Amino acid sequence: MQTLREKLHESKEFLFGVELVSIRGSMGTANAVKARTFAGQLVENPRVDWISVTDNAGGNPQLAPQALGRPILYAGKEVVLHLTCKDLNRNGLESKAWLLNSEGFHNVLAMTGDHPASGNERMAKPVFDIDSVGLICMLSKMNAGFDERHEKTQFCIGAVTTNYKLLEGEVVPQYLKLRKKIECGAEFIINQVGFDARKMHELRLYMDDHGIGHIPLIGNVYVLNARAARFYHENRVPGVVVTPALLELCVKHGASPDKGREFFLEFAAKQAAIYRGLGYRGAYLGGLHDANAVRRIMELERQFAADDWKSFAKELRFSRPGEFFYYEEDRESRLADRTRVAQRPKRRTVSGSLLYRLSRRTHHFIFTPGSGRARWGARTVSRSSDPLQGPLVMRAVERVSKSLLYRCKDCGDCSLPDIAFLCPESQCAKNQRNGPCGGSREGSCEVEGIGPCIWLRAYERLKLDGMEDKLLTHAPVVQDQRLRGTSSWANNWLGRDHASKDSKK
Ligand code: SF4
Repeated sequence: MQTLREKLHESKEFLFGVELVSIRGSMGTANAVKARTFAGQLVENPRVDWISVTDNAGGNPQLAPQALGRPILYAGKEVVLHLTCKDLNRNGLESKAWLLNSEGFHNVLAMTGDHPASGNERMAKPVFDIDSVGLICMLSKMNAGFDERHEKTQFCIGAVTTNYKLLEGEVVPQYLKLRKKIECGAEFIINQVGFDARKMHELRLYMDDHGIGHIPLIGNVYVLNARAARFYHENRVPGVVVTPALLELCVKHGASPDKGREFFLEFAAKQAAIYRGLGYRGAYLGGLHDANAVRRIMELERQFAADDWKSFAKELRFSRPGEFFYYEEDRESRLADRTRVAQRPKRRTVSGSLLYRLSRRTHHFIFTPGSGRARWGARTVSRSSDPLQGPLVMRAVERVSKSLLYRCKDCGDCSLPDIAFLCPESQCAKNQRNGPCGGSREGSCEVEGIGPCIWLRAYERLKLDGMEDKLLTHAPVVQDQRLRGTSSWANNWLGRDHASKDSKK
């Protein structure tokens, strides 16, 4: 029996995975029995290469994915378990990873995860101790045996990319983050749910053009129906967009005698065909609860002629007005034209640009490693009575100025220079330190009341100086929680924070 890793690299077949959404309840409940029956039927289907099980999808508490995954694994089918950072800190994630490795779950889809949305009266505290990049780094280190005193795990690490964003400041940072995930050890990529063939093509081309085309890319196919389309259209799932035109189409077909079943299955089969035609390694089917529907999609997809996907791609164009595309449109195919990267118009000023420029200069002046000011700072804080805090007056100046200028929360391991002087602790609901999560909506955070995504703002600030493509060139940031409540200035001068440690590498 081939493992998923072997299939991804050695098989010539176009692969199929199916998503199994966990349930709220224990294994004996009616919903769990339904999910287990569905899983059992999928196990019997030789064309299903793996089954993925979600981890508290949508931020809702559910049965742990390994409970549903075990019978699938024991039946000999490859399982991909989703592992997210929203409910566990890094110790909890490591502990869970050891458990998964011990039980034989070697395929993991590492994600930041959705902000807790419901369950327990929506009172849960989100964790986000690390993000998806931090998690991928951790799993890679586990695969390498940490510090050689530990056994090596065997995780095949998957990651997700969100390629259907609206604005330039969302699209490009998503691509940069994708590169970061691969740099940290992601071995296969699945894209977010979306319905635009030009963006599907663009992702394929972007990976090919940026030296990461060898990483297997799986296309997400969500099987819609009229109800699901309405749900997504109302922005109920962060990062998933159903445009008015697509909603209209779904409602129209949903009114047919079979509630549009055959139409929606064919629609899904066409998406899978487009992915195959574009050179993706496989398709990942979601939104299904019925093994016959899975079989039907595969059957329909097989019946298409080799070039049919090209005409399907012309139909599957549900982008939004003013949507940014990395490549210009090819007039004939209506897909991306790899020879023409889109112009990204320059701006002279954006909100906060004065503070950004001033902060950058000041930071450079005071904290450049090896400079006279940095040596003076290190001497001053190390001679103070508490080198974790530095001299009292200096600490007071730091707290007041950073609190007023950046809404600093005194985490002690400062990421301001990594995010164009925007604080992830106070202005990012998920404390993302390695690029944006996939949840932003038209540039705003998925969590109400937060406002524009800091990564979009950071991108726009860097763009003022033509530095936008360097947004994530720094080493992966894994925040040091031991430094909370200590002086970030002292930590930088004395080489305790992530930035000073990275500068020495
Ligand atoms: S020290 Fe931490 S909380 Fe304060 S500005 Fe920097 S990242 Fe934000």
